[in-house]
Amino acid sequence: MPIYEFVCKDCRHIFESLCFTSRDIESVRCKRCGSKNVSKLVSTFSSRVGSSSSFGGGFSSGSSCGGLGGFS
Ligand SMILES: [Zn+2]
Repeated sequence: MPIYEFVCKDCRHIFESLCFTSRDIESVRCKRCGSKNVSKLVSTFSSRVGSSSSFGGGFSSGSSCGGLGGFS
């Protein structure tokens, strides 16, 4: 299940949302205040991140997978 975690930058609410496409991710809104000013967190359901337990500090922008190839 492609469940992603998001944090609302307005009210700091953290919630989960089902996103099947990147368009779904872009259209996610805060479930508490309805703001579109949300950012995606690293999924807690990823099974292959065992070696890096301190993620969350280094990602300033972009995603960990797919943003490195120069897709612009
Ligand atoms: Zn909010």
